[in-house]
Amino acid sequence: MTETLSRSHALTLDAADPLRHLRAEFLFPPHGDADQTYFVGNSLGLQPLRAKAMVQQVLDQWAGLAVEGHFTGQAQWMTYQELVTEPLARVVGALPSEVVAMNSLSVNLHLMMVGFYRPTRERPAILIEAGAFPSDRHAVESQIRFHGFDPATDLIEVEPDEATGSVSMAAIERAIAEHGPRLALVLWPGVQYRTGQAFDLGEIVRLAHAQGAAVGLDLAHAVGNLELSLHDDAPDFAVWCHYKYLNAGPGAVAGCFVHERHARADLPRFAGWWGHEKQTRFRMEPQFVPTPGAEGWQLSNPPILSLAPLRASLELFEQAGMPALRRKSVQLTAMLQALIQARLADVLELVTPAEPERRGSQLSLRVAGGRERGRALFEHLRAAGVLGDWREPDVIRIAPVPMYNRFAELHRFVEETEAWAGRS
Ligand SMILES: *Cc1c(COP(=O)(O)O)cnc(C)c1O
Repeated sequence: MTETLSRSHALTLDAADPLRHLRAEFLFPPHGDADQTYFVGNSLGLQPLRAKAMVQQVLDQWAGLAVEGHFTGQAQWMTYQELVTEPLARVVGALPSEVVAMNSLSVNLHLMMVGFYRPTRERPAILIEAGAFPSDRHAVESQIRFHGFDPATDLIEVEPDEATGSVSMAAIERAIAEHGPRLALVLWPGVQYRTGQAFDLGEIVRLAHAQGAAVGLDLAHAVGNLELSLHDDAPDFAVWCHYKYLNAGPGAVAGCFVHERHARADLPRFAGWWGHEKQTRFRMEPQFVPTPGAEGWQLSNPPILSLAPLRASLELFEQAGMPALRRKSVQLTAMLQALIQARLADVLELVTPAEPERRGSQLSLRVAGGRERGRALFEHLRAAGVLGDWREPDVIRIAPVPMYNRFAELHRFVEETEAWAGRS
């Protein structure tokens, strides 16, 4: 084994890690007397320590001020969601006016399609990746039907063309070119949830726009994971959730991006009073005048209790910065890959692309021998306090998260897998 794959090297990297202090900002589920080795931040991020105080503050405002909580103090509810706007804009590489925290991911996807999926007889189609997250597929399929078109012809799914199930840029380019004149919308993930593949989003936007299609991005697995530059990549819209890498808690309020060029556009939208121009919202007049930018797409006054943990998490993203997080993430994931290649090549096959620029934190690992063996390994790891997650039929996803995982934890995963393979 080379020196860089030794446990002592991992400990050296942990000791020198400029982000190491952040681990203490999170609550780890216990495993016996130790912390669980938690590699599931791609599914549900850990609770930031300071989330409880943020939630408590809202409960205290409610108890002590009741309705006056809307208008009292720096964290008043009337403008509460604006407290997350700037940090969130930095996480996704957008202007503050381009982002808003609201609703949930699937709801935002529908609301965005009301504005940006405008099918015509000549141009009715939506292009997505084959094997998309079910909610995304349900959303686009139901929108196609809602407009009176037929998913059998108007939902175009780009099949994986690479051996491990990822999609080459050439295949995406071919599909966009082939269907170009019929495409109303291209909806693409930042990171594919099953394979962990990351995409050149700027290039996909460019190709789709060149064909006259609108572009939406689903960044559920990309936000807080990759360095994003939404303003410059210039999709028409993007949506994401905050309970994965953003650590804002189960079912947390989600995020939405609308590019600046649409800030004042007269687009169809499903409107609600919270999207009304802020200065005149409380005149309560019948005519809807949208707030320019992403905030104009809000419907309701925001779920303050759900926004509170997001504030806590974003403080940590502000401290760390996405460039430093991504730097560590690339190192962590590369080390995990190298360890697997060196010691577990007969047990685990890498499904995720090997190039760092084509993936985020997560590695999807196919267990040799099929589903039963895969489940057995997964259960062994869980019993040992090493938590990944399971994707049917035979894949374990492991996501070392730079905000709180350590290099030495990668060795826990490898050693436990070796122990299991030795016994089986
Ligand atoms: C996590 C995830 C979702 C979840 O949608 P919700 O509306 O938050 O329940 C949707 N799409 C993708 C791609 C996801 O990864």
